[in-house]
Amino acid sequence: MEESRPVPIAVTFSRELSPRARRITFSGMTLIESTKPASYLSLFFEEPSRTWPPPDDAAKPPKRTYTPRYVDASCESITIDFVLHGDGKATDWARTATAGDVIWAGATSGGYDLPSHIDHLVFVGDDTAIPAIGTVLESIPRNTRKTVIIEVVDEDDERQPSDIALSDPIWLHRGTDATDTGIQSLNLIRSIAVPSNTYWWIAGEREAIRTMRDSLVRGRGVDRGHISLNAYWRLVPMDPRER
Ligand SMILES: Cc1cc2nc3c(=O)[nH]c(=O)nc-3n(C[C@H](O)[C@H](O)[C@H](O)COP(=O)(O)OP(=O)(O)OC[C@H]3O[C@@H](n4cnc5c(N)ncnc54)[C@H](O)[C@@H]3O)c2cc1C
Repeated sequence: MEESRPVPIAVTFSRELSPRARRITFSGMTLIESTKPASYLSLFFEEPSRTWPPPDDAAKPPKRTYTPRYVDASCESITIDFVLHGDGKATDWARTATAGDVIWAGATSGGYDLPSHIDHLVFVGDDTAIPAIGTVLESIPRNTRKTVIIEVVDEDDERQPSDIALSDPIWLHRGTDATDTGIQSLNLIRSIAVPSNTYWWIAGEREAIRTMRDSLVRGRGVDRGHISLNAYWRLVPMDPRER
């Protein structure tokens, strides 16, 4: 399917959420093709040609995927929380973005289809998943039983996924070595006590979350249909042609 034409969005405000996270608010409105929780959009970090799609692949600007944490169609504004993880096109851009800077954004798409009846929902995510967890928490019935497990570098990066849907996360600290990502989450979900009809929403590093899924399915007998698995980033960088 042809990608819908991205639109320019301009930074209006940027502030630190934690030592490794910035919240950036943009003016401009993308196409809203999904209003589901944990939907996402593509950001393009160099101004593409005004004709879209660009004439050939080589002309495509670098693209990264982010969660629109807040979308306000009436004010035409979008807010995105960026994790500053080290070096990367998006991270480098977000670290220094100031009012007036312009990038391009694609339509919102995808997102989590909430199961029709949830006895218990377990969220397992790292810092990149905090915005998406926030949107899901704000979409489920208030009395839904839930467990929220979030892995961050250290306690300075603990930030609540939502100000209005309180969740009391279990915080795990992985340290600064990215290769340790997911290890503590995996150890916890192997043994954490949950009711049998539990759904799992998991997001983070691609291989780490696959290991978590396999552990749940093989080790705990969890039905695959009860697991929503969301690869948010890759420790082994993706071939640029796959982006
Ligand atoms: C559906 C979806 C929603 C997402 N929502 C968000 C969001 O709301 N906020 C957010 O911050 N991210 C989000 N992400 C993750 C984000 O797209 C990736 O982290 C992306 O790789 C960052 O791009 P970059 O240019 O900074 O780094 P890249 O150029 O992609 O990677 C550069 C290097 O950094 C490493 N790297 C990339 N991400 C991380 C990380 N998080 N921690 C440690 N090392 C990393 C890579 O392995 C690589 O070695 C989402 C991803 C998806 C698929």
